[in-house]
Amino acid sequence: MSRMSVQDNHHPCLHCGACCSTFRVSFYWTESEPAAGGVVPAELTDKLNDFRAVMKGTNRPDPRCIALEGEVGGFTPCRIYENRPTPCRDFLMALDDSELDSACDRAREKHGLPRLKPWPEQNV
Ligand code: SF4
Ligand code: SF4
Repeated sequence: MSRMSVQDNHHPCLHCGACCSTFRVSFYWTESEPAAGGVVPAELTDKLNDFRAVMKGTNRPDPRCIALEGEVGGFTPCRIYENRPTPCRDFLMALDDSELDSACDRAREKHGLPRLKPWPEQNV
């Protein structure tokens, strides 16, 4: 989900969730270790290997992050938005990405959602 703020209920990411249901979300294990300053809820993660953890539900052929609420294309808040891991914070929404065929575009396409339109056109 985009690193942009999603305070605004009209933000496209709040009505999408495609990337959270397309990619494996893995990160350095300390992000879910409180003793190391990690804030990602450990109970929502699995061990991937000796170095990396993964959001539950995303390390499978049909990924779906356990923290995603709602149905893709509907109202889809992240229930750990403030504590989401680095890949989610760094993921670029297509409107923030100069790539013509960005990961956001590909995720939306996989779930049958149209590509985002440039601001200020309506995206939801
Ligand atoms: S696929 Fe793009 S628009 Fe959809 S939630 Fe992810 S970043 Fe936002
Ligand atoms: S933690 Fe939140 S933003 Fe990251 S994949 Fe899961 S639902 Fe999406």
